Amino acid sequence: MDDLLYGTRNKRGDWSPRQHPEVAFFWSRPLDLRAWGKFLIGYIWPWNAFHVAVTLLYWNVLLPDWDTMKTLSWSWVLWLYMVNGIGIFLMYGSIEAIYYWKRKQGTRFKYNAKFPSEQPSDVFWFKSQNIDNFLRTYLSGIVFWTLVEVILLWTFANGYVPWLSWAQNPYYLALLVFLTPMIHEVHFFLIHRLIHTPFLYKWVHSVHHNSVNPSPWSSLSMHPLETFLYHAVALWHLVIPSNPLIGLLQLNMAGYGALNGHIGFDKLELTDDATLDSHAYIHYLHHKYFEVNYGGDGLIPLDQWFGTWHDGSKEGQERMEARYAKKVARMNKPSTEVPR
Ligand SMILES: [Zn+2]
Ligand SMILES: [Zn+2]
Repeated sequence: MDDLLYGTRNKRGDWSPRQHPEVAFFWSRPLDLRAWGKFLIGYIWPWNAFHVAVTLLYWNVLLPDWDTMKTLSWSWVLWLYMVNGIGIFLMYGSIEAIYYWKRKQGTRFKYNAKFPSEQPSDVFWFKSQNIDNFLRTYLSGIVFWTLVEVILLWTFANGYVPWLSWAQNPYYLALLVFLTPMIHEVHFFLIHRLIHTPFLYKWVHSVHHNSVNPSPWSSLSMHPLETFLYHAVALWHLVIPSNPLIGLLQLNMAGYGALNGHIGFDKLELTDDATLDSHAYIHYLHHKYFEVNYGGDGLIPLDQWFGTWHDGSKEGQERMEARYAKKVARMNKPSTEVPR
């Protein structure tokens, strides 16, 4: 497939999309009602439908008995760690193997023309982004994801929070399912903004940002505190009246969904003429420029409201540069205090 029909390539070989991502249509005016249908399809298919399917598999097949989960024990905790670990190995690993190892589509639709394996660096364990990211995924990322999962399930199993039934609250719970991606985006923006404050950035979030050119294994390559805060989005379902199935969906959306921002390709070629949109561009720009796009794709356009939105356009670039210039000027401003 010719990726230049959809975007442009610079001298270094980095590809960028011609059409810039837009915030969710319901924030644009005038309201275009025809866009609702298109939005709904994109909202559900394929990524959120995938998270629902994975969650139903957990719920019906993989979760231990609720009686077992009343009491904390290593056997079911380790089982959940193993389930998450295998799930991530299959999902992230297959994309990594096909597009990064076998390089099925070369650098077509790839934002950065280089592959991480071509760029050894001292910031990574064993100087390898792939080994570093893989090990951190299993030693930190999935460990603290599982911890959040254990807190969520154990609390519901013991009846410490209300467990709303589908029979009695079908509309409320359906609405809550519909809102899960929005809850995710707001929570992610808030904790992400928090870990970009200087102290937490230096000691916590810089681990994730070492991967300036992310690949799937970068997704959950995080400091323990970051992975806990990130997955803690599921714990909102202990605060708002909910059902553990929705809490679990919220959690899987964070764990499995972390992949999206780190695919590195704008589109994955499935067949000669079918592609899968990765929705990776906005977060790719965050890894490239650090101080833009703290949230997601603009479902809730917090970045736009706070002036940190960068969609890859010339205007986005200028906005960012103006902000940097202001920041530098602020830092260089001589103190107005008169020395005594
Ligand atoms: Zn990231
Ligand atoms: Zn960041």
